[in-house]
Amino acid sequence: MQDNLVVVAGGRLRDRIEIYGEAPLPTHRGLFRTVVFRDRESGAEHVAMVLGDVTGESVLVRVHSECLTSEVLGSLKCDCRAQLDRALDLVAERGRGVLLYLRQEGRGIGLGNKIRAYALQAQGHDTYEANRLLGFPDDLRRYDCAAEMLRLLGVRSVELVTNNPLKLAGLQEAGVRVGSRIQLPSPANPHSVEYLRTKRERTGHLIEVDEEDCAKAG
Ligand SMILES: [Zn+2]
Repeated sequence: MQDNLVVVAGGRLRDRIEIYGEAPLPTHRGLFRTVVFRDRESGAEHVAMVLGDVTGESVLVRVHSECLTSEVLGSLKCDCRAQLDRALDLVAERGRGVLLYLRQEGRGIGLGNKIRAYALQAQGHDTYEANRLLGFPDDLRRYDCAAEMLRLLGVRSVELVTNNPLKLAGLQEAGVRVGSRIQLPSPANPHSVEYLRTKRERTGHLIEVDEEDCAKAG
């Protein structure tokens, strides 16, 4: 299994996840507090970007999984970078909220396997078929860790920023109280439009693929 795959064993989670470091972090959206959590067993480090006082109820929360290819390398194959930017914009607009950045690349299969899946996609398989051909289920992301991070930050209930019904269910299962959900628009481009359509059809993502955006980007 991948190092960055978040696999936790229910009851022991509280002993495994700790706040390892935190500091003020000036950004172009304002002064955030960044908090690094460490899984004592796997050594995995996850990050929270925190703005304002987030102890209490109805905290705006985005749980975001790492995507090196789009966020750092500028890949147009998915909408992760746009989602990350919009979520941070929302937190900054509200002046209060949390973005959890989980190190679980490629829906949990890891960077190398994600690139192998891209190779299969280049041969005509869709994103879910490619994962299955590599021997992985559709989505290996786990959210128990996110629930524990929110608890450690003092968040008691959330306004969840997501289009993904599986994420919503996963967080609720892990004990997060979700008061409401906020959807994010998903701008498409010619490279991502099929991926976004597949995601909508296979997982019930609430995505309105904007064909006009797509044409413009082309
Ligand atoms: Zn991505």
